[in-house]
Amino acid sequence: MPKIQQLSPHVADLIAAGEVVERPASAAKELVENAIDAGAKNITVELQNGGMTFLRVTDDGCGMSAEDAEIAFLRHATSKLRTASDLEAIHTLGFRGEALAAISAVSRIDLMTKTADSDFGTGLHLDAGVVTERDSVGCPDGTTIIVRDLFYNTPARMKFMKRDTVEASALVSAVSRLAIAHPEVSIRVIRDGEEVLHTPGDGKLFSAVYAVLGRQNAQEMVEVSSRWESYTLTGYVSKPSATRGNRANQLFFVNGRHVRSKTMTAALEEAYRNQLMVGRFPSCVLHLTLPEHLVDVNVHPAKVEVKFLNERDLFDCVRYGVEGALEKASGRVQMKLPQQRQEEPAAAPKRPAAAVSSPAKDTFFRTMSAEDYKAFAQVVREAPRPAMTPELKAALERNKRPAAPQSAPQQKPDQPLPSPQSATEQKPEKPQPAPNAAEEAAQEELPLEAAPYRIVGEVLNTYIIVEEGKNVLLIDKHAAHERILFEKLRSAETPVVPQLLLAPILCKPEREEAAILLDSADLLGEAGFEVSDYGDGVLAVRQIPADLNPEDTEATLNELASDLKAGKRADPAAMRDAILHTVACKAAIKGGRHTDEKEIAALVREVLSRDDLKYCPHGRPITAVLTAAQLERQFKRA
Ligand code: ADP
Ligand code: MG
Repeated sequence: MPKIQQLSPHVADLIAAGEVVERPASAAKELVENAIDAGAKNITVELQNGGMTFLRVTDDGCGMSAEDAEIAFLRHATSKLRTASDLEAIHTLGFRGEALAAISAVSRIDLMTKTADSDFGTGLHLDAGVVTERDSVGCPDGTTIIVRDLFYNTPARMKFMKRDTVEASALVSAVSRLAIAHPEVSIRVIRDGEEVLHTPGDGKLFSAVYAVLGRQNAQEMVEVSSRWESYTLTGYVSKPSATRGNRANQLFFVNGRHVRSKTMTAALEEAYRNQLMVGRFPSCVLHLTLPEHLVDVNVHPAKVEVKFLNERDLFDCVRYGVEGALEKASGRVQMKLPQQRQEEPAAAPKRPAAAVSSPAKDTFFRTMSAEDYKAFAQVVREAPRPAMTPELKAALERNKRPAAPQSAPQQKPDQPLPSPQSATEQKPEKPQPAPNAAEEAAQEELPLEAAPYRIVGEVLNTYIIVEEGKNVLLIDKHAAHERILFEKLRSAETPVVPQLLLAPILCKPEREEAAILLDSADLLGEAGFEVSDYGDGVLAVRQIPADLNPEDTEATLNELASDLKAGKRADPAAMRDAILHTVACKAAIKGGRHTDEKEIAALVREVLSRDDLKYCPHGRPITAVLTAAQLERQFKRA
C-alpha cells in the first residue's frame, strides 16, 4: 500500500472545481448569480468561442473592497453565511463560497471591482487561482470579472468540451434562466459581438419571458397565479395547443432559484392530463415561493436540485394552480392560415386549414343577409317542405349562392337552417304557434330559433363545418365523439355498461401482453371486460363494454396491454383513464367514414353547448376556428 498523503490545496481545488465548474455555462451561471446577489440592476455577459477563451461579466452591484476581493477567491470564502444555522434559511443564490475559488483554479482571471464609498477600485490578476498582480484602478462602481482560457490547466476536462456553438448555447440558456428568475434585473448577453438576449429588468415576469422565449411562445402562454397554503405559484404555462416535442422549455423556480424537480414536472403534466398528445410536452415558467424552512437548497453542488419537506403539497400546489389557469383560459384553437396562397400545402385530410382556405371555396362560406333569411324562413314556415317557391328562389338568388351543387350547402329539411343570430344584432321574432300537425312536424325538424349556428356540411368525411356568429368552425367528428364518450364514461359511477357476448371472443396477444391482461383482470373488469385464460396463451373474452364494437375487442385489449406495460397501472386513476380512452376511441364514430346527418347534428349540438369539449382525450383539438377577420385577410378584403 502506498503511503496516504493529504492533497495539496491546489489539487483539492481542481477536484472541487470539477463539481462546480463543469463547462463555461456553469461558470457564467455562478458569476451572474454573484452579480445578482451583489444587488446589481444591470448585468452584461460577453463571451467568445463558447465562453472557452473569453467570458466577461460586468455588474453594477455593491463591489468589493481591496481586502475582500482577494479573500473572495479562497475556498469556502463567502460573505453570505456566518453560522451553521444560516444554512437553514438561505436568501442568496450563492452560499457555498466555492465558485470563485473553483473558476479561478482552472482559468486566468482579471477582476476589477469598486464599492460606492471608495474612490478607487481594485484590480487583480490570477493564474490558476494564484494572485499574480494587484493594482489600484479607476473603474465604475460594481464588479467586472474576465475569465480567460477556461480549463487550460486541466486537459482532461478540456477534452469533454463540445463545439463552441454548443457551449455557447448552453451558456446563453443558463443565463436566460437567471434572467427569467430575476425579471427585476436587466440582463444582456453578447455572443461573439452579437447581442442575443436583453431583458428590460422592469420587474415583470412576462417581459423576461418574452425576451427569452420570444414573442410567439410568450403569446401562446396563459398566466398562472395561485396560492396553496403557504405556497405561492405564479408564472406562465403553454396552452395545450402550443406544446413541444421535448421538455426544454419547462422552467421551474423555487424561491428565485432555477431547479429541476421531478415532482414539479409530474404535477405540471398531470394538469394537462387528457389534453396532450402522446410525446408532446407543455412549456412553463413557474415560480414557486414557499417558506425557506420548507426547502433545502444545500443538496447539490451546482444547486439545481433541491429537497422539499413535503413533496405532496408541492405536487398539489403546482397541479391545481396550473389546472385552474388552463381552465380559465381554455378556448378554441384558432386556425393558422398560410400568409401566401402560393405557399399553401395541398389539401389533405389532416390539414383542415389548407382544405378550407383553398381559393375555389371562397363563396362557400357566404352567409345570407338577415333580410334574405327572414324571407327564406317565412317561406319555410308556410310550407311543410321547402319547395322552390318564387320567393325562396328570389331570396336565394339575391344571396348569390354558387351554382355548383357540390359547393353549395344543401338545404335539407332535417338540417338546421341558417340562423339570423349569426348576424348577432337581429333576433328573429318567435314563430307563430303552428296551426296544424303537418306544420308542427316541420317546425320540429326545422329548429329555427334553437340553434345559434348552422351546420354547413361535412367535408372529407371527417370535418364538420359549422357557421357560428362570425366564425367558421371545423369540428373533427371522431375527436369530438371520442371526447364526449370519454367524459360520459368518466363521469358515470359505474363507468362502463358491459355487454355479455353470446360466444366468447378468443384472442392471442403476445405472451407478455397476455400475462399483463390476466394480471389486471380486476381493473379490466371495472371497465366492462371479462377476460380469462383459455390456455396456450389464448384469452377468452366473454364480456366487453356495451359501447364497444365486438370487432374492435382484440385491438382494444392490445392497446390496453401496452398502456399497462408502460407502467400506467402504478396509478389506478391514470389506468382507469387509459382504459376509458381506449374504449371511447374505439367506440367513437370514425373519421373518414360516412356519418348520418342526424348524428352529426347531435354531435355539433353537444360540442357547441358545452365548454369542456376542447380536446380529444389524446389532446388533439376538437374544434378549429376560422374567423371572418382571418378570411378577410386571407382574401385581401381587409
Ligand atoms: P458564494 O457566492 O457562495 O458566497 P463565491 O465564490 O461565488 O461564493 O463568491 C465569494 C464571495 O465573493 C461572495 O460571498 C461575495 O461576497 C463576493 N463576490 C463574488 N462576486 C461578487 C460580485 N460580482 N460583486 C460583489 N461581491 C462579489
Ligand atoms: Mg457565488
